Amino acid sequence: MGQLRRFFALKEEHIGDSFAIVSSYNHIAKVLRARVGERFVINIENELIDYVCEVTNIDKSTVYLNIVSSNINYCESKLDITLFCGCLKGGNMDLVVQKAVELGVNYIKPFESQFTISCVDNDKANRLTKISHEASKQCCRAKQVGVEPSINFNALCSLLPNYDAVIFCNENGGEKLLSLDLSCANRIAVVVGSEGGFSQQEQDILGKISISISLGKRILRAETATFYILSVLNELAETTFRG
Ligand code: SAH
Repeated sequence: MGQLRRFFALKEEHIGDSFAIVSSYNHIAKVLRARVGERFVINIENELIDYVCEVTNIDKSTVYLNIVSSNINYCESKLDITLFCGCLKGGNMDLVVQKAVELGVNYIKPFESQFTISCVDNDKANRLTKISHEASKQCCRAKQVGVEPSINFNALCSLLPNYDAVIFCNENGGEKLLSLDLSCANRIAVVVGSEGGFSQQEQDILGKISISISLGKRILRAETATFYILSVLNELAETTFRG
């Protein structure tokens, strides 16, 4: 059976054993032209529950659905990962956001450093957030991941001490990823540079407040390094840290 289409509802749109959805009305009623009897999976922001629902009525502004069944959503990662990614040119940022969501990150915070040549302003952050929300629906996650406007390098460094573990992907060398013991790390920050990487001064600063990790001898593109580190962390979370 094909996957049911998924939508996120606001908490206030959940009323007892039904939903009255206005926030996704246009997509459900106009784009998909949903009909009474059609079924969807509805998630409420950050509640790890999938509600299988059936459309009971559609009026000019609201889609009404009854809850048919509810199940725990098991698609969230066991690790709470925040990806700090150097701003990338053009479509590469879209790709990193989409794949980072599929690979389970909970927060995406772009930053600008000395060698970045692009930024993420409010408009771009909103566009990237839309890509992120579509990725959440596509991979059946119960969480939506926002993408924030880019911060500068100093702001990045001021945020990192808030994390139990800070993994700095350092193409100039570092520890092996598999040597990390993240079993007690609840909040993990992963830092990946932009196309131009980091200046020596930035690397020195990051090296003091994080764990430098080498992803091997080859210099990977930023997006490749991102997918690599998140994939390995996913596997470790499933097999080692969290059992
Ligand atoms: N400084 C590089 C360009 C940066 S690559 C050059 O001279 O071409 C973009 C980012 O990907 C880097 O800042 C780093 O965070 C990550 N990265 C790339 N290759 C890596 C490797 N072998 N090990 C760890 N991180 C790597």
